[in-house]
Amino acid sequence: MSDVVGRFAPSPSGRMHLGNLWACLLAWLAARSAGGRMVLRLEDLDPDRCRPEYCDQILRDLEWLGLDWDGAPVYQSRRTEAYAAAFQALANQGLLYPCFCTRAQRLAASAPHRSDGEAIYDGRCRRLSEAERRELEQVRSPAWRAAVPEQTISFCDLLQGFYQEELSRDCGDFILRRSDGVYAYQLAAVVDDAFMGVTQVVRGDDLLSSTPRQLWLQERLGLPHPEYGHLPLLLAPDGRRLAKRDRDLELGRLQQSYTAPELVGLLAHAAGLLDRLEPVTPREVLPLFAWEKLPRQDLTLSLPKP
Ligand code: GLU
Repeated sequence: MSDVVGRFAPSPSGRMHLGNLWACLLAWLAARSAGGRMVLRLEDLDPDRCRPEYCDQILRDLEWLGLDWDGAPVYQSRRTEAYAAAFQALANQGLLYPCFCTRAQRLAASAPHRSDGEAIYDGRCRRLSEAERRELEQVRSPAWRAAVPEQTISFCDLLQGFYQEELSRDCGDFILRRSDGVYAYQLAAVVDDAFMGVTQVVRGDDLLSSTPRQLWLQERLGLPHPEYGHLPLLLAPDGRRLAKRDRDLELGRLQQSYTAPELVGLLAHAAGLLDRLEPVTPREVLPLFAWEKLPRQDLTLSLPKP
């Protein structure tokens, strides 16, 4: 067995759709073809969106596809203490500040946008005096942001190549804990990737611009950097980006028309790992996996049957 540890990190906010299966299959193939381990974490931090029954469904769906993992799944909803400790470590370095802005205030600031479409925070709460902070604390509980430095973070992505961001300009001060106390994805993902010994992160390239933030957090927390491979997105036949709210390509619906080997064949073919469309199991694709074969551009999937 090699030292590679890959991971599945689905969000149980609904049934998985074709894009989630794409990311899971390729993450599994990348780790297993290198003789590595595969771990599973359910990113169920947001109590408003996540449901325990979706977690159970994800486990069943991965098994149905023929994707296995090592050890017990990690549930982020049970890891609050670890996030609190990391949060404290960052606070001790003077890197955090409370932000009292409402969503409406943030939107009204009409700030420039990051490449992931989120507005870059204009930093107004970073400049509050102690007295102003105390006053605002009486009315509202704050979110907590990282005060990012003017620092360029670069890395070499396994698929996208060289990527860099200047944190203060391209990303801005980002939230680590929401005003309702829920820790943010960026913090939890970094803490858990290290906790689970992950060495290789394979995920959709909608998360490419999260990576400089995560690399910076790893640096500040003294955690190792995994390697990253950001997959081009799989678009629906009409060119739409897949989202959980689009029911038509979620697994429950797909299962009415396809068997697991048919779906795996479809995805492996789209990934350039199969010359022709045929039903296969993930294990059968293992010897065919190679990073060089994978597409670099987003691709539109054509579904052969209904
Ligand atoms: N939970 C995220 C998702 O389902 C993935 C996060 C990650 O891979 O870092 O899109």
